[in-house]
Amino acid sequence: MQALCHHLDSIAESGTRLDGPLPKIRSLERLVDSLQRLLHRIESDQRESLELLTSNRLVARELGRTYALLNSLSIGSLLLDNTEKIQFANEATAPFLTVAPNQAHGQSVRGVLKDAEVLALLDPGGEAAATRWGRSTELPADPESGREDTAVSLSSVSDENEEPVGQILVFQPITQIKSMEKIQTEFVDSVAHELRTPLTSIRAYVELLIDGETTDKQMQHDFYNVIYEETYRLSQLIDNLLNISMMESGTAKLDVTPTRLKRLLEESLEVVRPQCEKKNIDLVADLDDRLPTLDIDKSLFNVAVMNILSNAVKYTPESGTVIVTTSSRGEEYHIQVRDSGIGIPEEDLPRVFEKFYRSDSAKAEQGSGIGLPTALQIVRLHGGDIHATSKVGEGSEFTIVLPRTLINTSIGE
Ligand code: ADP
Repeated sequence: MQALCHHLDSIAESGTRLDGPLPKIRSLERLVDSLQRLLHRIESDQRESLELLTSNRLVARELGRTYALLNSLSIGSLLLDNTEKIQFANEATAPFLTVAPNQAHGQSVRGVLKDAEVLALLDPGGEAAATRWGRSTELPADPESGREDTAVSLSSVSDENEEPVGQILVFQPITQIKSMEKIQTEFVDSVAHELRTPLTSIRAYVELLIDGETTDKQMQHDFYNVIYEETYRLSQLIDNLLNISMMESGTAKLDVTPTRLKRLLEESLEVVRPQCEKKNIDLVADLDDRLPTLDIDKSLFNVAVMNILSNAVKYTPESGTVIVTTSSRGEEYHIQVRDSGIGIPEEDLPRVFEKFYRSDSAKAEQGSGIGLPTALQIVRLHGGDIHATSKVGEGSEFTIVLPRTLINTSIGE
């Protein structure tokens, strides 16, 4: 009995399997105790394997997602280990290989690359690839394999200790690179245009005032107004450019101070009021008397609000309406700007927060396509978000959604 119990206990402790002859039983109590220990051990083993299985499943699911993402890219990527064996090839590498990408794993890359130019990039010591830009070449289009003009580059891949673990070959269609360059050129053109237009008109009005040709007080007043508006437009553009580059480089720091929302909104409304009067737009501020004080970066937040508000005025034709409202929604605080303007086509709506994106329907108005992305970055820096809904010909609604945690409760709502 004693021997049997020892046998069971050692199985329970070590987790070894139950085989071989069992010793004889002497005390029932001791036996039950040993059996219980064994059951306990089996149970905990089962739980551990279940946990392992679950975490393996999670890892497998994440890996599956990453593979699906890499496979859906139109840029080909071929990952090599230090011995030039292929670790991963996504589907976009198919036109450059002699085997199907899903058959390439483990094969030597030199045996499966079609093009001598790409083979010439390979770098057994990893020295050239280790330079900052690696090596690159271009391949001409090949209608037979259905590939476009392609830029190919080789760079080294290192682990977290900067040790080289392999190399990566990237195949990118040149049309894609060109379209990115086109967007940048268009942006520079549109910024130059945006800067030149107000400057030209400021110069013209200042010249008129200097020449003293205008003696009429009302006319002089109107000229000063134009100069003021154009100067404002210039500084808004410059602010947006500076803010977006700061936020993108990660150097933007929030200078948070308790800010009375009512005052901030009223000041923004005053800035667009002259423009509304000119276009006979009904500017409605449906603001509660008891708006909260928010812990925000006042001048950055002002830029975000102004970008949304001035768009509403800009894209609303004569005699339309722009309404600003605020509301508390559970854990969120909303600031809404609704207009009865031209609206945004459904297919453009998801893109209006992209840098430099302008809907074709908006191109009759001047713009640079960085107002909304700047606003979004600013609101996100505050932990919030911006939602937009719109209907062509009926108008748009932009909602700044802020976490209620920004409300300064020591000062009160
Ligand atoms: P832009 O300088 O062109 O106004 P934004 O980044 O501020 O740049 O806006 C991006 C695009 O979103 C605009 O070009 C326009 O197509 C669209 N848009 C933004 N706000 C509105 C609005 N209130 N009504 C209609 N279209 C809008």
